[in-house]
Amino acid sequence: MKICFASHNQGKVQEIAALSPEGIEVVGLSDLSIHEDIEETGSTLEENSAIKARYVFDRYKMPVFADDSGLEVNALNGDPGVITARYAGPERDNQKNIELLLKNLEKFNDKTAQFRTVITLILDGKETQFEGIVVGEIQNELRGVNGFGYDPIFVPKGFDRTFAEMDPEEKNKLSHRAKAFQKLLSYLKELNG
Ligand code: IMP
Repeated sequence: MKICFASHNQGKVQEIAALSPEGIEVVGLSDLSIHEDIEETGSTLEENSAIKARYVFDRYKMPVFADDSGLEVNALNGDPGVITARYAGPERDNQKNIELLLKNLEKFNDKTAQFRTVITLILDGKETQFEGIVVGEIQNELRGVNGFGYDPIFVPKGFDRTFAEMDPEEKNKLSHRAKAFQKLLSYLKELNG
């Protein structure tokens, strides 16, 4: 079965392709020559991952899945959530996003937060969603140089290092994305027999 991962990020696509069971070929948007951006107009991670998956399904009627992730900070009522990438503005500047988050969190003692990923799978027109969560705490200081996004300020529960201080292999065992993808892969493996 050929299945599309509705993502322009070839790194992500290849990572999942490498983990996929025999008989399942994962292709990205660029492999299908889809180059336009899919507008994420939803107000939740669930809606945005579904919008991206439906975009491909409606045009190509092929099996597809899409992911959407965000950082949810408890003291900020779950913000930045669905706008995590654009928290400080449309330019998606990681440094500015982190600065704004630390400023907004300054007056709170509760620094707990979670990264959450939602994947929407569409097979034969049927939608199924998978969720992955990693809980942790936001640090006031940036630490570490690995990873991306908010990694330098996020320490997963049970650890004293930020995601940016971990090597990618260690982070990828713990991460929200990895957990959601493992659920998706188990589901596909079961279907595949
Ligand atoms: P996306 O849906 O995977 O593009 O994630 C949206 C945004 O959430 C990213 O642009 C990052 O700012 C943030 N984000 C998602 N996953 C991670 C992570 O593993 N570490 C740090 N930031 C992340």
